[in-house]
Amino acid sequence: RNAVIAYKPLLRAAAYVDGQWVDGAAGRTIEVTDPFTGGLITTIPALEQAQVQAAIDAAARAFPAWARTPARERGKILRRLLDLIMAHRDDLARLITLENGKPLKEAYGEVDYGAGFVEVYAEEAPRALGEIIPAPVPGRKLYAEREPVGVSVAITPWNFPLAMLTRKFAPALAAGCTMVAKPASQTPLAALALAQLAEEAGVPPGVFSVVTGSAGMIGDLFTSSPIVRKLSFTGSTEVGVKLMAACAPTVKRLSMELGGNAPMLIFDDADLATAVDAAMIAKFRNCGQSCIAANRIYVQRGIYDAFVESFAQRVAAMKLGDGLEEDTDIGPLIDAPAVAKVNEHLEDALSGGGRLLVGGKGEGRMQPPTLVVDVAPGALLTREETFGPLAGLVAFDAYEDAIRLANDTPFGLASYVCSTSPTTIAHAGRDIESGMVGVNTGLISTPYAPFGGVKLSGIGKEGSSHGLDEYLNIKYVCHAGL
Ligand code: ADP
Repeated sequence: RNAVIAYKPLLRAAAYVDGQWVDGAAGRTIEVTDPFTGGLITTIPALEQAQVQAAIDAAARAFPAWARTPARERGKILRRLLDLIMAHRDDLARLITLENGKPLKEAYGEVDYGAGFVEVYAEEAPRALGEIIPAPVPGRKLYAEREPVGVSVAITPWNFPLAMLTRKFAPALAAGCTMVAKPASQTPLAALALAQLAEEAGVPPGVFSVVTGSAGMIGDLFTSSPIVRKLSFTGSTEVGVKLMAACAPTVKRLSMELGGNAPMLIFDDADLATAVDAAMIAKFRNCGQSCIAANRIYVQRGIYDAFVESFAQRVAAMKLGDGLEEDTDIGPLIDAPAVAKVNEHLEDALSGGGRLLVGGKGEGRMQPPTLVVDVAPGALLTREETFGPLAGLVAFDAYEDAIRLANDTPFGLASYVCSTSPTTIAHAGRDIESGMVGVNTGLISTPYAPFGGVKLSGIGKEGSSHGLDEYLNIKYVCHAGL
């Protein structure tokens, strides 16, 4: 394991500010640990306030030239970066598994997913088209242009250390914005590796910086700075709401990808094998640590027993272990509190009448894949994000019951429906309050589609052409006297 770490060509132990690799001015550091062993991977700098400010100032200095760089040229740099990411696919995947703990096969999936955003926005960069509006009076020409919003900042979580950043970084740079990013302190290494590859691809100094250190201090500087015109955040609703409030006095553009509480509805007419596959991936992908994870699985009574039998077999067959081993399905969770939260949800489900069929209580950072059936509709795991490999099944009778249960939450990120009836699918797609709906699948994320939530799950879209718009303002010009 140490050998794997020592030879990491992409492992950086410094922050990246204005094209320079820097240590913390006061020499303070943060430990980055391997969630599987608990051992130290490396330390990263805890930057001082002035160093974070320097990154923001550098982004402001770099902005005019980057904004005026032809969009095709910006796209070419992103395409070079895409090639570099794919050339370093093995190193990046191992780095992600080391710092996050996820199984290596999922880390490879994340590299491909993360690279996909760089590909999409390399293509989208030259497509920020303007429009000419027929003038309401003679002698005038009215047009609207898309221009970059300016200096942007990103705050990203630990569950997808690379992809949650590239989905912000790539559209920002494609649009002509500069960006300062703060990765989660648990998993800063993929972001620092991205900075290194971006530099190699030709991203000029100051256009992209990665700052590490205190979330509170960096968050305060980001949100209060009048220079920063845009904040993109992925994380909890609790923190997102604070950041939104802190951005209000400077009226920043905001993209917020916040918490979810995704329901999965499995109707009697669902194809059993399809529904089981969908539930497996929607629940257990990334060890359940995904904001679009199926948090609550509602199964109609007619298919309930058959679904339980088949799903239980699949859950029991998953292998818990070291993410670096090829056949691991579930790695460690990010930290011990994450396991404690799963246990709290498990105990609550059992005390409310649920039956434990597979797995059970976790220890340390290891949480075995767990299945509880006959869960009461009001159980904690139906109300709060579990963020771990615990599946709870709730039975329902009628379509209306399922929709009522699905919408009985302040969140609205993703939802899933399994059915073979076109009518049920169409009605559910209409009736469920969420930003995304998976039909007969548990895997909906792709850089080519707009990802984002409604209600307390957030504002804005990431991925697809919509993701570019988040970094563009529309400027209207009225040219008179013609
Ligand atoms: P998660 O449950 O994914 O850890 P958080 O919202 O706590 O969600 O964290 C997501 C990101 O927000 C991380 O990079 C974290 O460091 C950062 N963060 C946490 N608290 C704050 C804060 N008060 N201000 C700014 N950023 C914060």
